[in-house]
Amino acid sequence: MVPLINLEERRRKIEEGLSGSDTSSDEDQHYDTTSKKLSIRQLYQEYAKHQPHLLSTFNSRSFNIFTFEAPRQTQLPVLSLHLVHSHNLLHLLNEVQFANFLALVTSTYRQSVQYHNDLHGFDVAHMAHLFLTQGNLKELAELQEVDVLSLLVAALCHDLGHDGLTNGYHVNAMSQRAVRYSDVSVQENYHAAETFRLMQREQFLNVT
Ligand SMILES: [Zn+2]
Repeated sequence: MVPLINLEERRRKIEEGLSGSDTSSDEDQHYDTTSKKLSIRQLYQEYAKHQPHLLSTFNSRSFNIFTFEAPRQTQLPVLSLHLVHSHNLLHLLNEVQFANFLALVTSTYRQSVQYHNDLHGFDVAHMAHLFLTQGNLKELAELQEVDVLSLLVAALCHDLGHDGLTNGYHVNAMSQRAVRYSDVSVQENYHAAETFRLMQREQFLNVT
């Protein structure tokens, strides 16, 4: 059973942290680099709206991302926040940078791609969550916290920047991706490289 998270307390702590040192950083720390800007506070506000529903539905295979009613740009960030809360991983993260990372993940997935988009990315992360919990993977594989976080981030980002085309198409078209990766697992190499690029930009881990 996932404990109820005190979101009000969490939000207050973040606000204290933000106003403590550099006040300009609050304005700078938007979690979306594209059209819609959402701060870490707004992310938590959005999460608070959905937390009761998520607590009752998230740990089941019947959870359906297509019926999760939130603005599209907030869906992956809100659900991912719930995911790390569910596994008690928040203490490993710089929350502002993690929120920025989630915004970048959302905007790097292409919503114009019908299948391999942000919702699919999260759907796979949710399945990884079920493997860990309902499937007892965490215990069976004796996973540590950082292993769990790695698996969830990898699942979330596994199709990052997918353009809806196949590896065969890229190779035959001699696309930039295919040339860059010498025709070897073109899309997969691209998704992994994009993931590391975003992780380097927003270094959200508190641990070394
Ligand atoms: Zn996929």
